Amino acid sequence: MSDTQSESWYLKLHWQIGIAMLLAVPFGLLTGEAGAEAIGWLGDLFLRLLKMVVVPLIFFSIVSGVCSVGSLKRVGKLGARTVGYYLVSSTLAILVGLLLVNLIHPGEEGVLVQYRVGGSAGEEALLGEIESGSALRDLVFRLVPENPVEDMVYSGEDPRRGPNILGVIFFALLFGGCILALPDARRERLSSVFDMLFAVMMKMTGLVIRAAPLGVFALLGAVVGTTGLEAFRALGLYMLTVFGALAIHALVVLPLICALLARRNPWAYTRALAPALATAFSTASSNAALPVTMDCVERRAGISNRISSFVLPLGATVNMDGTALYECVAVLFLAQCHGVELGLAQQMVVVVTALLASVGAAGIPHAGLVMMGIVLTAVGLPLEGVGMILAVDRILDMCRTTINVFSDAVGTAFVARLEDGGEDGQTGG
Ligand code: ASP
Repeated sequence: MSDTQSESWYLKLHWQIGIAMLLAVPFGLLTGEAGAEAIGWLGDLFLRLLKMVVVPLIFFSIVSGVCSVGSLKRVGKLGARTVGYYLVSSTLAILVGLLLVNLIHPGEEGVLVQYRVGGSAGEEALLGEIESGSALRDLVFRLVPENPVEDMVYSGEDPRRGPNILGVIFFALLFGGCILALPDARRERLSSVFDMLFAVMMKMTGLVIRAAPLGVFALLGAVVGTTGLEAFRALGLYMLTVFGALAIHALVVLPLICALLARRNPWAYTRALAPALATAFSTASSNAALPVTMDCVERRAGISNRISSFVLPLGATVNMDGTALYECVAVLFLAQCHGVELGLAQQMVVVVTALLASVGAAGIPHAGLVMMGIVLTAVGLPLEGVGMILAVDRILDMCRTTINVFSDAVGTAFVARLEDGGEDGQTGG
């Protein structure tokens, strides 16, 4: 799997994944539902492999990351820089979305009636999960696990929602912090134990990533096979607005941050990240992509493990530029469809709650849609409209997740430059 200069191009992971993605589209279109059924299990298997490594990877990565920072004071500084980046980049993303949705004005009364949701059992279940209420209270409660072991297994009452990563992160940060507070000899011994455990998880991650081309092909082929191109017609302008805003953020805002603040060549860095971005796109899950993202950032872009093992797991759960932007565009779109013009003050409420909703959203498929109830409630809009945009959520989710992961990686490069001059300062790929 190593991407050395001497390797033939077709042995390089990003080419293999690129080809897999190219093949998946015609495969899905030609074989439809039958093809999706035939290869669906392969995609699911790849997802299971990724999920298998993700919780121990996050736990050991954060504990060993905190230990390697060396002192609680430095952890505080690193944490403040990391969270500072998250807040700024997500806010910028929301503002891009806000600008575009006001300019394009995709919502007209009656648009929602054109496309009614099919009402399958899966869709019904998803709609049932839509949350309303206080974003902040919800976030704080999710942060503090009642039982950390249980949070590693599932969040809340519903096992389908997967582990509560926010709770796992909080516990891991405290755990690592407490190791740092131990006397020297014990601290050093424990630090090296966690370092080794983390190395084991990275090794396992490397093995799982070998299956990425096949997994990406199967996941993407199945999505194209089941969704087809049908759903894209009715809500076209809305989708174009989300795509346009995501594209501006990905092609202008994040590369500028990458070049000016992280001092890295954005193109070379993006190439190094290609496998992670492809995995994010095909899985629609920042958590599932996390093992690949860590591998790309460390091995292909040469950023120190000390920084990435701290910043990336946090980012996969907390920093979601694409989701934040999407919340803002979708809620304003729904307002337009309901004939409600939100004034400046109301739009600011959307900005703030969209930010909170993106922080609270889990790194799993459709989490952004589920969190939208919080933003809608904050500006007094009905929750019903969400059912209408559910039909096109998968493709939007794939795109916003890719941006989420891209922003996590750019943030890692930025923090790495602040902390230690960006290591080798160059990217391979
Ligand atoms: N699927 C996204 C992610 O994992 C979250 C969302 O639904 O917006 O990053």
